[in-house]
Amino acid sequence: MTRILIAGNWKMNGDISMAQNLATMIASEGDALNCEYLLCPPFTAIQTVASAIGDSGISLGGQDCHAAEAGAHTGDISVGMLTDLGCGYVIVGHSERRSNHGETDADVKVKAEAAVEGGLTAIVCVGESEAERESGDALAVVGSQVASSLPDAASATNTVIAYEPVWAIGTGKVPTVEQIAEMHLHIKSVLTQEFGSDSSKTFRILYGGSVNAENADEILRTDGVGGALVGGASLKAESFLAIGRSCP
Ligand code: PEP
Repeated sequence: MTRILIAGNWKMNGDISMAQNLATMIASEGDALNCEYLLCPPFTAIQTVASAIGDSGISLGGQDCHAAEAGAHTGDISVGMLTDLGCGYVIVGHSERRSNHGETDADVKVKAEAAVEGGLTAIVCVGESEAERESGDALAVVGSQVASSLPDAASATNTVIAYEPVWAIGTGKVPTVEQIAEMHLHIKSVLTQEFGSDSSKTFRILYGGSVNAENADEILRTDGVGGALVGGASLKAESFLAIGRSCP
């Protein structure tokens, strides 16, 4: 059975010594828990984290990638560079990439395609803004992002979807469990429509947005939730491990 995925998105945080310490602490307990742990440090710390987690069973990922294999793309990182460092995953389409770098669904899709072709599992982020939630458009917006951002060859082994309402990221605001369940169910139905319903298309759908040690238990037990994408609470071993201990 596929384990619940607890993914830590460190964003632009962490020097080498912090990365070394945090990854070592997660590795010392993480793999004994009833979930799969994934660390997504900044690019500069990937190698340090790779050494710290060793063969502990903790997974490693990047926070973004470029769609091209190589070339004149200053500041970007290719899929091959991530796999070279031992990454198995990459986050694409995070709302901070969509808003800070103007990434569209089409941009996210080509990155996800490149990730999958290069052997990574793509974690494709989708989520509505507060205004879209308030105007009753959340399901339509997220459904359209799912239909337009996933690679054509998406399957349960190469693609994970992270539902992250933009208004819940880093704000301490969390949707109700009913809202989370409703959205996860909706995403599942869009996925069935787009990719069919055989078992290779039983995608993991993560929830992300202000998950912490206190609310993880309830969120991870919500219908349709296959794990969590965690920002702030992944930067401290105690809170990140507490989330893993909540895995049903
Ligand atoms: C994120 O950025 O993916 C995220 C979920 O952040 P936070 O947990 O801090 O809301």
